[in-house]
Amino acid sequence: MKPAPFTLHRPATLAQATTLLHDLADEDARLIAGGQSLAPMMAFRLARPGHLIDLNGVGELAHFSESGGMIEIGALIRHVDIGRLPIPGVTGDLLRAVLPHIAHHPIRTRGTFCGSLAHADPASEWCLTAATLDAVLVAHSASGRREIAARDYFEGAMATALRADEVLSSVRLPQLPEGARFAFEEFSRRSGDFAIAAALVVFELRDGLIAAARIGIGGAEDRPRRIPEAEAVLNGRKPSPELFVEAGAVVAAALSPMEDISTSAAYRRELAATLTERALEEAAR
Ligand SMILES: Cc1cc2nc3c(=O)[nH]c(=O)nc-3n(C[C@H](O)[C@H](O)[C@H](O)COP(=O)(O)OP(=O)(O)OC[C@H]3O[C@@H](n4cnc5c(N)ncnc54)[C@H](O)[C@@H]3O)c2cc1C
Repeated sequence: MKPAPFTLHRPATLAQATTLLHDLADEDARLIAGGQSLAPMMAFRLARPGHLIDLNGVGELAHFSESGGMIEIGALIRHVDIGRLPIPGVTGDLLRAVLPHIAHHPIRTRGTFCGSLAHADPASEWCLTAATLDAVLVAHSASGRREIAARDYFEGAMATALRADEVLSSVRLPQLPEGARFAFEEFSRRSGDFAIAAALVVFELRDGLIAAARIGIGGAEDRPRRIPEAEAVLNGRKPSPELFVEAGAVVAAALSPMEDISTSAAYRRELAATLTERALEEAAR
């Protein structure tokens, strides 16, 4: 299949990109970054944008920085760059642990971190990471810049708080404290497929007790999110297999999982509980 005809625009600055989005608002303009989600959708004619605004010439979006305890990842940072950049600290280690679970190597060489957040597939590993770490998403439009907290950003399957006239210019992730423990677990039928469910857990150990627990679940519901009920079960308690089973059960009870032709809600619920338990055990080791 070939995409429907479109006009290609190649802005060189973020200001040019946002002006194009503003000026073409009534003509179905779409941004393209890595093209690893949008190009297949266009080839199958599931998307038929009249105008494509290619971000790849906007050099200022290829930035990465660390300051004030935040790691900032620009819109042209590709999945593979996460493994190549000197991203420091526990957050750097966490990102490098999650990276190999995303798609296949050729896709990782083109797809972008922010493109994943903009596309907002419920099973996206970077969306789960952003939700679990309480990322801040930075959006630019012709009328200015705004920051969106991850908990307000994901609105459903492939639905976000980003407006049609906005470029997601970067995402800011907090640097986790030294000594914080984490683990990521996902299940998909074949390596490289989108996950049926995934769990990302983070916690600290203070005097042998769990503190600052974060449990994020992706792929199970229509958007990734933290499960505060399960985090509350962990905080202030000593790590143990029994506690992790209890936390998994609380995750299962808190979820309203999606169903599709091959996977029932009950299966996703059980899977999320098992992945949570496994991730907690791995993080505690
Ligand atoms: C076979 C296959 C397997 C895959 N498996 C996985 C997987 O396991 N996990 C996973 O997370 N992903 C997976 N992907 C998707 C891949 O990670 C994509 O790279 C990612 O979803 C989108 O990033 P992109 O830069 O390619 O975005 P594009 O395809 O260029 O764009 C996707 C959407 O986001 C919008 N967009 C892109 N960048 C911006 C921006 N900066 N601001 C505003 N809007 C923007 C576009 O307009 C479009 O609507 C897979 C893809 C394929 C083809």
